[in-house]
Amino acid sequence: MRIHLMTLGCRLNEAEMETWSRDFQALGHAMTKQVEEADLLVVNTCAVTEEAVRKSRKLLSRSCRQNPHARLVVSGCYASLNPDAAAGIEGVDLVVNNRDKGRLVEIVSERLDLWVMPQSATEPDATGLLSRGRQRAFIKIQDGCRYRCSFCIVTLARGEERSRPAAEIISEIRHLQSQGIQEAVLTGVHIGGYGADIDASIPELIRRILQETDIPRLRIGSIEPWDLPEDFWRLFDNPRFMPHLHLPLQSGSDSVLRRMARRCRRDEYRRLVDQAREQVPDINITTDIIVGFPGESEAEWQDTLEFVEEVGFGDLHIFAYSPRQGTKAASMPGALTREIKRQRSQALHQLSERLKRRSLSSHLGRTLPILIEGGDENGWGGYTPNYLRVTAEGPAGVDLKNRIVDVLITAIDEELLQLQGTTQGLEATCQPWSQIN
Ligand code: SF4
Repeated sequence: MRIHLMTLGCRLNEAEMETWSRDFQALGHAMTKQVEEADLLVVNTCAVTEEAVRKSRKLLSRSCRQNPHARLVVSGCYASLNPDAAAGIEGVDLVVNNRDKGRLVEIVSERLDLWVMPQSATEPDATGLLSRGRQRAFIKIQDGCRYRCSFCIVTLARGEERSRPAAEIISEIRHLQSQGIQEAVLTGVHIGGYGADIDASIPELIRRILQETDIPRLRIGSIEPWDLPEDFWRLFDNPRFMPHLHLPLQSGSDSVLRRMARRCRRDEYRRLVDQAREQVPDINITTDIIVGFPGESEAEWQDTLEFVEEVGFGDLHIFAYSPRQGTKAASMPGALTREIKRQRSQALHQLSERLKRRSLSSHLGRTLPILIEGGDENGWGGYTPNYLRVTAEGPAGVDLKNRIVDVLITAIDEELLQLQGTTQGLEATCQPWSQIN
């Protein structure tokens, strides 16, 4: 059976797709990059915004049109929140709710009676992530969230918190590393809450991964700015734990944060960032901001602009608020016009660019280890430990892909707002995975 997987939305969806890919292959199925070649299509949908819902529906219809003979399975937040609507889309054979995602491969095998070739399950897993040109893998460590931020649909769609045992996560990372993966990113809906249900914690998990695997780079995805223990920063003493934190702020106004039912106010957020910067050299703090939350006054908006400037984020993800049915915020009064949201969003984008330029400038003239993710002799691309994109010239005739190499940062690409550099004259600091294996 040839299987094609598609995903929309967050890193967690991406991580789940990678797990399904491995599980399907362990059963003897083959993955294909071509929709037209597949016998089975699996789509992991998203519902974080109305636009994401529209895209999810469109992807399902398009998949069916492109390959009407393949069986079509749909999962993810859109399908879980609207199972009947998802099942009604032409060509959909099976809807798997988010709560059953961990068993998707098993459910699909049972319900669709998949034909498998057990002998190939014992062959080396050469068709894994690297065949998709990947150096970085997303590892799902938990699902669900105990909080109810008033704008958040994800928590309704994903349900209660469930953590994966550390041993399982460690074994997944070891397996990925044996395939050549150089960087693991821990993801989840509320990863700060990891372990509450299994008597564990996120610092403990990170420590164990660093001790029990040799993965060269470990990151965490977005983590809410609360539930972080005092000793969290000490984890970064290990140079394999990458100094980048995406701490969603959502608003710089305490009154808006209260209406959003967020657990962290400006002062606590500021304290956290100060602690991080004092204890972790080079840490890059990035964030999410929602623009135009119901009732956001001009004064509240100015508070946000001022706070974003004061913190000096390395990067911002900016979202114009859109109501999601079923959330508390959807029935709040004081909806803002599209024009006001557009203007505020534009102003925040301008501020974000200015801050990013400032952060990039502070790296000029330094030599940094870059994990090269792609490119060729004319220009390699990759990321610094603190997650800044770099393009670099390399020596002629040397393939740098999937190597961690020292790059001297020489300039800023003003158009793409990323760093530029050169590897000329600098030694590679890590062997290519193909030589390690
Ligand atoms: S903490 Fe994050 S996932 Fe949980 S409700 Fe709030 S925004 Fe949603």
